[in-house]
Amino acid sequence: MDDCIFCKIAKGEIECSKIYEDQNVLAFLDINPKAPGHTLIIPKRHYKNIFDIEDKDMIEIGKTVKMLSNKIKDRLNPDGIYIRQNNGELAGQSVFHYHVHIVPCYEKEPTGNNIQEILTD
Ligand code: 5GP
Ligand code: ZN
Repeated sequence: MDDCIFCKIAKGEIECSKIYEDQNVLAFLDINPKAPGHTLIIPKRHYKNIFDIEDKDMIEIGKTVKMLSNKIKDRLNPDGIYIRQNNGELAGQSVFHYHVHIVPCYEKEPTGNNIQEILTD
């Protein structure tokens, strides 16, 4: 998908604050975070949404969401975490390349930390 911003991020054509990468999956900080540590997980292959993602990539995404949720919990100490995945404009989807949000919730938000550094091995 030539005009897809997340494909461009996956190919390294547009910069992102990368948290994790493997052969199939990339995770990076949301450019407009709801809270410190707001992370997006995408398959490197382009799928629009839940209705066309292949099972094998869904499984890889699921494993990565679990692994990064634990890392965010351990390293940023949020009071809770919500996980959201939007499908269709009406449901709040604005980038039409499948992605999962991990959003930490804090009673008191941390300030002044380099979140990317904290979450990167
Ligand atoms: P959606 O509303 O489609 O579920 O979520 C899209 C998310 O992508 C939004 O939270 C938005 O802030 C984020 N986003 C859009 N463009 C970029 C970008 O170029 N870089 C990064 N890191 N995040 C982006
Ligand atoms: Zn794409």
